[in-house]
Amino acid sequence: MKSDIEIARAAKMQPIQEIAKQLNIQADDLEFYGKYKAKLPLHLIDENKVRNAKLILVTAITPTPAGEGKTTTSISLAMGLNKIGKQATVVLREPSLGPVFGVKGGAAGGGFAQVIPMEDINLHFTGDLSAVEKANNLLAALIDNTLQNKKRGLNIDPRTINWKRVMDMNDRSLRNTVIGLGGIANGIPRETGFNITAASEVMAILCLAKDMHHLRKMLGNIYIGQTFDGDPVFARDLKAEGAMAVLLKDAIKPNLVQTTENTPAIIHGGPFANIAQGTNSLIATKMGLSLSDLVVTEAGFASDLGAEKFFDIKSQYGNLKPNAVVIVATIRALKYHGGINKSGFSIPNPQAVEQGLANLEKHIENMKLFGFNPVVALNRFATDSDEEIEVVKVKCTSLNVKMAINEAWEKGGEGAIDLAEKVLEAVTHCPSCFNPLYNLEWTIEQKISAIAIQLYGAKAVEYSLKAHKDIELINKLGMNYLAVCMAKTQNSLSDNPDLRGRPEGFTLNIREIEIASGAGFVIPIAGTIMRMPGLPAIPAAENINFDDEGNITGLF
Ligand code: ADP
Ligand code: MG
Repeated sequence: MKSDIEIARAAKMQPIQEIAKQLNIQADDLEFYGKYKAKLPLHLIDENKVRNAKLILVTAITPTPAGEGKTTTSISLAMGLNKIGKQATVVLREPSLGPVFGVKGGAAGGGFAQVIPMEDINLHFTGDLSAVEKANNLLAALIDNTLQNKKRGLNIDPRTINWKRVMDMNDRSLRNTVIGLGGIANGIPRETGFNITAASEVMAILCLAKDMHHLRKMLGNIYIGQTFDGDPVFARDLKAEGAMAVLLKDAIKPNLVQTTENTPAIIHGGPFANIAQGTNSLIATKMGLSLSDLVVTEAGFASDLGAEKFFDIKSQYGNLKPNAVVIVATIRALKYHGGINKSGFSIPNPQAVEQGLANLEKHIENMKLFGFNPVVALNRFATDSDEEIEVVKVKCTSLNVKMAINEAWEKGGEGAIDLAEKVLEAVTHCPSCFNPLYNLEWTIEQKISAIAIQLYGAKAVEYSLKAHKDIELINKLGMNYLAVCMAKTQNSLSDNPDLRGRPEGFTLNIREIEIASGAGFVIPIAGTIMRMPGLPAIPAAENINFDDEGNITGLF
C-alpha cells in the first residue's frame, strides 16, 4: 500500500473552476489561490437552501492517539454519496501545524479518501491560521501598549489580563512567560503565556461569525480583564475590533478544494475539539448547504467533545438543524478500550473488542441524547479479522443501530457505498430530530453538570476555589447565559486520560473557567488539559523533508 502522500500525489486533480462547476459556481466568483484552491465569496450563502439541504455529522468513539478515521470517513462518505448519484460536499476544518509536526500527522484524510492538494492543505493552506494568529496578537500588542501609555486612561489591572498570544505550533515552553522585562521603555512586566492558534478565541469567533459585521461585533466583545476598580474591559474599549476584523477579511471566506475523486470539498477554520469548539466555520457549513443537497462534516475527537460542541454551541447559535450522525469506530480503538495496547492492535482478539464495546455504547447513547439514532461506520483496517467485526455487528443489532463497514481507505468512494446508503436512510428519517442538551438560560453550573453527568458519565462535578471565583465573576458580569465549551482530554470520556472504556463513578474536576465572551462561551478547564500542546519525544517533524524532485515527503 502506498503512503497517503503518494496516493494524494497520484490522484488526478482538476482545475478548481471545474470543481466549482459541480456546485454551479461561476468562475468569476472564485478567488484563486493557485490552480487548485479558491476562496468562495459569502454572497453565495443562501439561507433558503441552508434550511432545505441535509447536514450529516461525523463523530467517533474515544480515539487512540493516532485518530480513528473521522476525516477519512467524512471524505469517503461524501464520495460514496456522489457515487450513488447524490450531490454531496464534504466540509472540514483546516489542519493546524501542531499535529502535523507532532504525533498525529496531517488532517486531510487518508488512503484513497483524501482532500487534495494535501501538502498545501496541511502546510499553511491559504493562510487563514496565520491571519487568526495576527488578529489575536494585534489585540495582545494593543493591550500591552495600553498598559505602557497610562494616558489612555483605561486603568487595566495587568494581573487580571487573561488574553494570551497564540502561535500555530506545539511549543510547551511558551505556556507560561514573563513579558515586558528590560526597564521603563520596554513595557510593563507581567506574567502571561501562549495558546496554540487553534485554541484562540479569535479562531472560535471566526468559526461562529455570520459575516464581517457580526465578526467585528464578536471581536469587540472579547473580554480582556478588569480595571483596578473591578470593571470589565473588552476589546471594544481598546477600539481593537475594526483592525482585527480587517486582518480576517480573507480568512472569513471558505476554501474550496477537491477530494481524491474530484468531488468538492470546503475546508475552513480549525479549532481543536478538546480545547475549543472543534468544528469548521459556520460560514463553511452554510456555504456547503447552499451549494449542495447533502453536506458531510466532521467534529473533532469523540462525541463527548466535538459532537457535543457541534450541537450545543454551533448548531444552537447558528440555527442549524443536523439530520444524521455517523459514529466512526475502529477495531483497534475498541481493543484499546478493552485493555490492549498498541503492540496488540494487529493481533485478532474478539474478546478485547467485546470488552471495549462499552465505549461505543456510551457514544451511541450520547447521540440519542441529542435526538439521533446514529449509524456506526466501522473503519476497516487491513488487520481487522471477520470475527472481530462480527462482534461489533452483533452489538449494533442488539442496540437497534445500523452499522456499515467502510473500506474507503483502501478502495475510495466505492468502499463507502454501503455507509452512504445507510446514512441516506437515516437522513430521510430525521427531518428535525435535533435537540440541544442544555438551554442557554441555565446557570453555568447546570450546563456543566448536564455535560459532565449525562454525556461524560460523571457522578459529580467538583470546582476548585479558582473555578468558584471564576463563576462568581461570570455571574457578576451577566455572562451566565453563555454556552459552555469544555476543555477536557480526548483520550477518555472522563477528565483522566488513563480511564479507558466507559468510566463510571468519577468526579469531573473543574480547575478554572475562562471567559470567551466574544465567541459566546465560557471555557471550563477539566483535569490537566493544556491549551498549548507540547511535541512528543520523536515528533513527526523529524520525518518531513523533500526529495530531489522537490516533492514533499513524510506527510501523512
Ligand atoms: P481522525 O479524523 O478521526 O483524527 P483521520 O481520518 O485523520 O482520523 O485518520 C487518522 C490516520 O489514520 C490517518 O493517517 C489515516 O491515513 C489513517 N487511517 C484512517 N483509516 C485507516 C484505515 N482504514 N486503514 C489504515 N489507516 C487508516
Ligand atoms: Mg480529523
